[in-house]
Amino acid sequence: MEYISTRGHIEPVSFKEAVMMGLAADGGLILPNPIPTVDPKTLEDWKKLSYPELALEIMELFVNDIPGEDLKALIVEAYRTFDTPEVTPVVDMGKFNVLELFHGPTLAFKDIALQFLGNLFSYILRGTGETMNILGATSGDTGSAAIYGVRGKDNINIFILHPHGRVSEVQALQMTTVSDKNVFNIAVEGTFDDCQSIVKAIFNQLDFKARYRLASINSINWARVLAQIVYYVFATLKLEEQTGSDICNFSVPTGNFGDIFAGYLAKRMIRPKIGRLILGTNENNILTRFILEGRYVIGDVVSTISPSMDIQIASNFERYLFYLYDQDAERVRFAMEQFEKEGIIKFSREERSTVRNDFASVSIDQASTLSAIRDIYQDCGYILDPHTAVGVAAALRLAPDLPEGPAVCLATAHPAKFPDAVRKAIGREPDRPDSLKGIELKSSRCKILPADIDEIKKYIEKHAI
Ligand SMILES: *Cc1c(COP(=O)(O)O)cnc(C)c1O
Repeated sequence: MEYISTRGHIEPVSFKEAVMMGLAADGGLILPNPIPTVDPKTLEDWKKLSYPELALEIMELFVNDIPGEDLKALIVEAYRTFDTPEVTPVVDMGKFNVLELFHGPTLAFKDIALQFLGNLFSYILRGTGETMNILGATSGDTGSAAIYGVRGKDNINIFILHPHGRVSEVQALQMTTVSDKNVFNIAVEGTFDDCQSIVKAIFNQLDFKARYRLASINSINWARVLAQIVYYVFATLKLEEQTGSDICNFSVPTGNFGDIFAGYLAKRMIRPKIGRLILGTNENNILTRFILEGRYVIGDVVSTISPSMDIQIASNFERYLFYLYDQDAERVRFAMEQFEKEGIIKFSREERSTVRNDFASVSIDQASTLSAIRDIYQDCGYILDPHTAVGVAAALRLAPDLPEGPAVCLATAHPAKFPDAVRKAIGREPDRPDSLKGIELKSSRCKILPADIDEIKKYIEKHAI
């Protein structure tokens, strides 16, 4: 197993190098070469495994430079923070199943990758005796999951920028009530776009970046995709045990294409057990238009009740493009450069049919999202968060076109993280899980700074490890 870039201009690297690289040095994204496949006998054996045991088996296929015992310890430590030993339980709702991915410390699916990545970063740094400073911007879920991923680590400090007063109260408190001394929350007097452009500008100052060993924790890191492959395989095997059906379909509420790309890799690994991958989008539907119309065209971002999917440029899309183009890195590079200049990529008839074989898709507007929350609550007494509701609505709408076999809808956040949307749909707020009870009463800590690069750099300089 080696790692290559979608743009073809790096020497192959090992797993640890790929993790530390984040973005490939040639501007592309890192991918494993080749994609491993799993034979039916092994899959049969895997049915007996717990989630952490299965994670170890799957990750060992991709990790070539960490001893098995160490990898096991990293995995066990990552998933010990979840509030159920199953880690990602599957709940039967009759017409479909819900794969609950929100049992981690910040109640969103990003914990599954970031609990692992935080431990992995710290482990790799221990090996080299180095330290790092993570810098990121968040509009909500990513920031708290990243903070919980590295809190208390003695060789990592983390700086997370969020727009002051513009993230939900719960989301702000999840970040600012973490009291570990390596955690630095910065509330920027500006918008999320201001936060993001400040982070981008700082990363572009290469001497500053090198001096403080700045690292990013965004969704393009290969280790995040890897950790997410596990629950697709876990749910498929579990449902095969329970229902006897040997094909499983998945519906995935999508923003950056990270989560569903993990599903695409899982499908290639355990073919033919994963049937259709349904890509659900909200009104920010660049990916749905890509699948249905065969053109990847940028549009304007609109704010919705599923804010973690309010994205137009899907940062993991390039990974899929690499396979759609039969691993032709030069073509990927050309297409991405074209997209940057002109905001569009077009596809041939043959490519369009490959895409429609790989994915089904539908865009769900906010009214339909709210109705899905209401309908499922009335029918099943189960409360969906607005992101999950997009995936459920998509699965129900496309149900007639799916192959036989259970449909699994990924539940990407706990509904208590989005009480306003839920109240709008069903007239009451969801019950809070223990981790959110009384969060307003905890002491919180956060530095308010103007949307000014120099001020923020000064703050980082003062607190960097
Ligand atoms: C990040 C996020 C998504 C979208 O995931 P992608 O990997 O960006 O497609 C969906 N739902 C929730 C709750 C999220 O936090």
